[in-house]
Amino acid sequence: MSAVRVRFCPSPTGTPHVGMVRTALFNWAHARHTGGTFVFRIEDTDSARDSESSYEALLNTLRWLHLDWDEGPEIGGPHEPYRQSQRLESYAVVAQRLLDEGKAYRCYCTPEELEARREIARREKRQPGYEGTCRNLTAEQVAAYEAQGRKAVIRVRMPDHDWQWDDLVRGPIHVRDEHVPDFVIVRANGEPLYTLVNPVDDIAMGITDVLRGEDLLSSTPRQLAMYELLDAPVPRFGHLPYVMGEGNKKLSKRDPQADFNAYIEQGYLPEAMANYLALLGWSIGDDREFFSLQELADNFDISTVNPSPARFDLKKCRSINGDWIRALDLDDLTARIVPFLQRDGVLGDPVSEQHLELLRAATALVQERLETLDQASGMLGFLFGDIEIEPEAAEKLLDEQGVEVVAAAAAAVADLPAFTAEEIQGALRARLVDDMGLKPKVAFGPVRVAITGRRVSPPLFESMELLGREESLRRLTQAQSR
Ligand code: GLU
Ligand code: ZN
Repeated sequence: MSAVRVRFCPSPTGTPHVGMVRTALFNWAHARHTGGTFVFRIEDTDSARDSESSYEALLNTLRWLHLDWDEGPEIGGPHEPYRQSQRLESYAVVAQRLLDEGKAYRCYCTPEELEARREIARREKRQPGYEGTCRNLTAEQVAAYEAQGRKAVIRVRMPDHDWQWDDLVRGPIHVRDEHVPDFVIVRANGEPLYTLVNPVDDIAMGITDVLRGEDLLSSTPRQLAMYELLDAPVPRFGHLPYVMGEGNKKLSKRDPQADFNAYIEQGYLPEAMANYLALLGWSIGDDREFFSLQELADNFDISTVNPSPARFDLKKCRSINGDWIRALDLDDLTARIVPFLQRDGVLGDPVSEQHLELLRAATALVQERLETLDQASGMLGFLFGDIEIEPEAAEKLLDEQGVEVVAAAAAAVADLPAFTAEEIQGALRARLVDDMGLKPKVAFGPVRVAITGRRVSPPLFESMELLGREESLRRLTQAQSR
């Protein structure tokens, strides 16, 4: 058996979406697991829809996830170029060859004529599809159409037999002949279609395994026909399960949950996204849900991918992200939080040595409860500048009694010999709980709001230590004069 060659070949339209990235990940994993080659190809033959920014976004997404490709954009390879817009000549050559060999023909039917015939088929309860109208036009008929100024598409003459393949994910699949009518490979304006360029490049690039979403299953018989007509060895096909979103509906490209960039912007880690996306149709076994990219590569087996639809569970994705955040060492996590705090205006650029120290200490306080990095600004922002007390928190907790509590707290910690979390805690407990007889919640709630501006924050005493005596007292005083 020849070495495995897989390809990820998205069209650069719109922003990368979850289903597409899962496809990239599984192709990568299959290549790495088998010691094969991961080819990255850009299918940009639709100039009306493709964009350069989408192309850049695709490359960035793969890089962000650490999915390295062996051949493709920017690194090249033996089958350059890897952008179809730069390979147009080769498609024209193949289309001409198919015409010359009588395996394809020019079809002059107009869209209106085709639609009218489909309508009749539907009414007569026949399967609508191209009926072979132009299969055997005489030279006179062609001349007449040309004289009318009609522009022809190029259609493939489907061989007359059923289609079957042993799907790597779904097992044996059989499609009856009549379900696959003659199909278009070149538009009337000369633009080659996916039906042509995709198999032509898969052949040229020696692709052995085609792994892609289930939505493309119906195009497989047409591709099998192309291999037959072009006398090329047929690759294995594996169709990855649908990804379902809210309400058990197929996750569509336009679903906000499908937008991959949103996860990057919210501070999901690449490790966590790779981990979670791998669970959409695959399992490492033993109910394990936490694993690295390397472990995925080591263990991935395409034949164990589950063909039934996979549900995208945002809660689980978040929780796996939290697991990965906890698994990072403190310096690493701190460094990854910095850009989020800068984005939100909490930290400047560059970050001062002093702020970095403070951030590192503060990160240790919240590592256990961060689920996404973008929560860091809300949790830690109070340490790096003036706070704005949340109105709702002020109303609830800085009432008359609250202000009294805050005043007592200020007095209790003002002259502590050492302003450490332990000392602060001791002093506040003695004064507020023991002396004043307050329940801890009633005692510390107003202090927390005064110090952090919020009702939920990192541990209070540690936060005060990090802020320091002077700033803590300033805030406790300020809160009383609201
Ligand atoms: N360019 C196609 C797409 O993005 C590739 C499909 C395939 O993997 O065959 O849908
Ligand atoms: Zn026709």
